Amino acid sequence: MNAGQTSTPQQGAISQGPVAKGPWIDIDLGALCDNYAMLAGAAPGVPLAPAVKCEAYGLGAGPVARTLCNRAGAREFFVVYPEEGAALRAALNDADSVIYCFGGPAEETLPIFDTAKLTPVLNSLDQAALWAARKPGAEAALHLDTGMNRLGAPVSSLADIAAVNGLNITLVMSHLACASEPDHPKNREQRARFMEAAQNFSGARLSLAASGGALMGKEYHFDLIRPGIALYGGSPFAQDDARIKPVAALRAPILQIRHLAPGETVGYDAAFTAERPTRIATVAIGYGDGYPRAGAGRGEAIIHNERARIVGKVSMDFVTLDVTDLKKPAEPGDIAEFFGPSLRLFEAAAAAGRTAYDFLTGLGGRAHRRYL
Ligand SMILES: *Cc1c(COP(=O)(O)O)cnc(C)c1O
Repeated sequence: MNAGQTSTPQQGAISQGPVAKGPWIDIDLGALCDNYAMLAGAAPGVPLAPAVKCEAYGLGAGPVARTLCNRAGAREFFVVYPEEGAALRAALNDADSVIYCFGGPAEETLPIFDTAKLTPVLNSLDQAALWAARKPGAEAALHLDTGMNRLGAPVSSLADIAAVNGLNITLVMSHLACASEPDHPKNREQRARFMEAAQNFSGARLSLAASGGALMGKEYHFDLIRPGIALYGGSPFAQDDARIKPVAALRAPILQIRHLAPGETVGYDAAFTAERPTRIATVAIGYGDGYPRAGAGRGEAIIHNERARIVGKVSMDFVTLDVTDLKKPAEPGDIAEFFGPSLRLFEAAAAAGRTAYDFLTGLGGRAHRRYL
């Protein structure tokens, strides 16, 4: 993807220039910093360590992390794989930032931890033993499983891990399974288990909250928060959250306008039949760009501040919008916004059968990323 590159777009000039031929994603780095400040304000005094895994959920780990480091003051970051960590270290141009790798170390990846100065998140007794044997005294985080039953060291293994010689655990973390529902009883259960289990590692900082936990109140904040989606403009909850500002905007130009007579059909499988004289706009975005096929018939886009619905199937390179009812007629070259400042990511994702997480992360490499 082009995510590692920054450009110097002219703000507002979105229908101009070479990117206007296909889809693109505008990324508002000021709004990214605003979301960081909002989360910091929700957890006063608790540092934020942005999760920039998976290219910062598709927005570009380099530009996102550089911005959060230089403009917002972030000094700790989370990725999953050491390869992501090494790319981030190079992009950050800051030797002092701490880069944690959720996946932990393996024999083959130890050299990357060395050269890129990465900090592992240990997920098992085996990883703890490997790290302590090969890097005695070197800082590491430990991921406790408090009920997610996905990754992390089971509570039953903690006494053995705590007894490993040469191990230096400076951060103990766990992950909430049900942060999308703040009132879910599992959140309180996990918190209680976390506090008890962490006693095996006295002196280490504690971290339980991602975006959801950050917005769930003080008792979830502990010593470090690991936000991802809320920084990038998505709600971590089962509902939208107006405190979170849009960061990314998915846009594409209209290529052609069709005038259909009643009875004519649109696209593959003739899935849509016009029941009235219908204007169809063909837009340069499709599932090849990560726009979900499930958006057919339900997804919408904003053109001239009005909504138009996707009709017919989503194809690899195109979607077709019913623009019949637009007050200002849509024309080739006009821009359709699939989410962004005029259509909330939460709503657009839901209409396409997605969450903000998988909608953002699924946007492919073909759409240009422009940093504003
Ligand atoms: C991805 C991830 C995060 C960030 O989660 P958001 O819900 O996007 O804020 C935090 N912690 C862990 C362990 C993760 O895997």
